[in-house]
Amino acid sequence: MATEAAAKDAAGVEVETCPHCGKPLALCVCEYAKPIENRIAVLVLQHPQEQDKLLGTARLTVRHLANASFKVGLSWPSLAKAVGRPVDPKRWGILHLGSAEDAAPTAPVTALEGDGSPVANQKRALADLEGIILLDGSWSQAKTLWWRNPWVLKARRIVISPATPSLYGKLRKEPRKAGLSTLEATAFLLAHLEGKPEIEKTMLSTFRRMLQRYRDSLPPPPPAPAHRQRRPRPEPSPQ
Ligand SMILES: [Zn+2]
Repeated sequence: MATEAAAKDAAGVEVETCPHCGKPLALCVCEYAKPIENRIAVLVLQHPQEQDKLLGTARLTVRHLANASFKVGLSWPSLAKAVGRPVDPKRWGILHLGSAEDAAPTAPVTALEGDGSPVANQKRALADLEGIILLDGSWSQAKTLWWRNPWVLKARRIVISPATPSLYGKLRKEPRKAGLSTLEATAFLLAHLEGKPEIEKTMLSTFRRMLQRYRDSLPPPPPAPAHRQRRPRPEPSPQ
């Protein structure tokens, strides 16, 4: 898309962007995002107003996976239309937006019933999953996507309990409720559902590179005035 040809870097300067991840070339880590052969399909739906071209991870996530698709929009008539092939929504999971504490899950990944209670046979519910849906955008944008696509209610609701917080740290102003980026949440889900911790390890190492490039691109902080204030004032010389 023509609008993706340029973006503003951390310093607000218009710069050329990568056609794959949409990021300024200085932040692009696509060369490290070698597609992983994931068994469980991934669908990332992004709100059209999601503007975080610097720190967003939706495109990078999909680029890192052989079996993944990415759509920008507000609504799709069905999951099959969004994925682009016939699928059974009952065999797909959607990362639930509510906080993990609501269901008090003890496992890293928990499947929920429509009323929010944990499914009795977790093992079977999770083993049945053919694909997972992630909503990319701010908290309110993801909520809008949820309500504009009633077919998501046919999918299995999933909550995750990551053991560690997002690698974003303080870089992002508005963290998701679960705190993870789309890339981190996807990596976490696939690693647990497929029983392959290496998926998460590989994807997180690419994410770390992306964050490091972002930090490197930031203008150096101005000297802190606090240091000057802390210096003791010279004693007035006695007259
Ligand atoms: Zn790129």
